[in-house]
Amino acid sequence: MNGPSLAQATRMSASHRPPLGAKAASTALLFGALGLGVCSFGCTEPESFEAESYLDSLITQTERRVVKRVPEGRKVQPGTITPVTGKNSHAGMRSALLMPPVSEVTFTIPEDIGQSTYLRFAAGVDHSSYNGGEGAEVRFVVLLRGEPVYHANVPFNKALPEIQRRWEEGEVPLAGGGELTLRVDGDGAGLEDVKSGFSELNVIKKMRRVRARSTIEEPNVILIVLDTLRADRLGTYGDTSGLTPGLDALAERGVVFDRAYAASPWTWPSTASLLTSLSPPQHGIVGSKSSFLVEELNTLAEVFLQHGVTTAAFSANPLICAERNFDQGFEGFFEHAQEDSDLILPDVVQWLRENSENRFFLYLHLLDAHTPYSPDPIMRERFCEEPPAGFTEQMTYALLKAHLSGELEDTTKLDQFVDFYSSLYSAEVATLDARLSSFFATLTAMGLDDRTVIAITSDHGEEFMEHMMLGHGRQFFSESMQIPLIMLGPGVPSGERVDARVENRYLAPTLLAAANLAAPESMPLVNLLEATGESNPEEKTIFFTTSLGRWPNGPQEHRDKTLQIHGCLKERWLYVWAPKQNNLEAEQHQLFDLYSDTEGKENVATRNVVRMASLKEEIVRWLEEGAVMRVDAFTDQALAEELMRGLGYIGEADDVPK
Ligand SMILES: [Zn+2]
Repeated sequence: MNGPSLAQATRMSASHRPPLGAKAASTALLFGALGLGVCSFGCTEPESFEAESYLDSLITQTERRVVKRVPEGRKVQPGTITPVTGKNSHAGMRSALLMPPVSEVTFTIPEDIGQSTYLRFAAGVDHSSYNGGEGAEVRFVVLLRGEPVYHANVPFNKALPEIQRRWEEGEVPLAGGGELTLRVDGDGAGLEDVKSGFSELNVIKKMRRVRARSTIEEPNVILIVLDTLRADRLGTYGDTSGLTPGLDALAERGVVFDRAYAASPWTWPSTASLLTSLSPPQHGIVGSKSSFLVEELNTLAEVFLQHGVTTAAFSANPLICAERNFDQGFEGFFEHAQEDSDLILPDVVQWLRENSENRFFLYLHLLDAHTPYSPDPIMRERFCEEPPAGFTEQMTYALLKAHLSGELEDTTKLDQFVDFYSSLYSAEVATLDARLSSFFATLTAMGLDDRTVIAITSDHGEEFMEHMMLGHGRQFFSESMQIPLIMLGPGVPSGERVDARVENRYLAPTLLAAANLAAPESMPLVNLLEATGESNPEEKTIFFTTSLGRWPNGPQEHRDKTLQIHGCLKERWLYVWAPKQNNLEAEQHQLFDLYSDTEGKENVATRNVVRMASLKEEIVRWLEEGAVMRVDAFTDQALAEELMRGLGYIGEADDVPK
């Protein structure tokens, strides 16, 4: 499978919405090696490009909103819409101004709002509304000072394939201000029940920035997320089988965080935390339904872009895509869904050659260590025995299922399969390491080492039956949560290890500090390079959450349920809580004393009821404090609850792991 060319990938990104500074990006290709533009008189001037900042959202601005028309018995109000459900769909839940057909709303935009201010939004119909007949459609119109500036016709008939049920993106200039009108009407039977609206309604300001060049004091930054890589398979974290000589050598040149944790055991919540430095309740990506990275959040890439830094991302994980707004702040966002890094890294090197003189922030999200495992034959030969008779991935999961339901009396075959499956993962990790080694050698050969800070981490680990599960997303034990965290480059100490328990989501402010750039107020002021055992003596509580949780050690009737679960690590304790939810009639708890039981094998919940209650209390506070950030604009409690439910806080677990 060949990857899309850079040009193709750019178009993929552009189909989502106008890419940031697309024009500047093409100029960069022309003048990239110099970082300079040439004026018509033959003199040179610094090249500039377009950046933008989020100012406001019109969704919750009840005072500035005048409802001119709405059907009797219905309301114009904030809420949530998703045209399709499920993680593989081209949609995703977004907050929206719900406007049923036929309705009309106006806002007064100040006349002095500025030439470079725009309204960005999407028009959509909720998945529950696709029941109309042929020809049924909802029409969305935006007018400024009475002139139409946007229109979209969205069909809502039953026969419409899922792929065509999507948001219709829009962006209109607000320069000159005046009356802004949003109108929704339509045709067809069933119109009276349609749930439709404009999502986001973000006011953004575009601005020019001079493209910066890198120096030792103002270095480049490369963030590499190795999806699904658990820490303990790396030599530098204690593995003795020699899987990762490349990463181990790199670790010796920098700082290794011995006990680093991801925010969630699966990609969406964890990666959103990495890019924003916020906890999942704060950024709101807590489940498949809530998987849209809202514009109002400050991402690491946006901060770099604001400072004139050239930004690009290469993502192999289909969840980390422009459609879900993960391209915020990236001039170039190149999607290589499901490809291994041997197909991606050549494009990355090409991009680096074009941009090596510009000051850059590069984010690589590589999927090699994720299933399906397809290690290089040489690594497979070195690190795997012959597969046991009858082995397949599907068969391994089938045996696990039988085991969980109590139908498997003899687990010998399951154990053999899992051992082999785990060695296949090891061989895949070794394959990835070899690919990265040659990439790092290229960086050195390009002379980037002394002006580039590199951070390597993962979004979560992988389970191989240490706690009766396979894969990830399910539980909070170390095989899922403990990930590598390595930093090196100018200003970063060499050959140091940090023993303090840390969260890898603090990489964002740490990388900004390493790059001598101020972090925005929205990011916690934590610099991991200052995290030592002395500076963090009580080991601050670390929280986890997942909507793909499982309870394999619990009562039989709960073993095959997917649950929303939360957890925390505090001092010696790992506490896991499954609140009462749709498919769980009573809450469940697990508590492990990691001092006396380092692997977390013995649930001591019933012996520590008081301790457990206080840990649960801490989790509830953590969830509430985070959620408040997302819903504080919703004064109506019922609406806030609807949003919370839509965003997955209230009792809705996901079905599909990733
Ligand atoms: Zn992942």
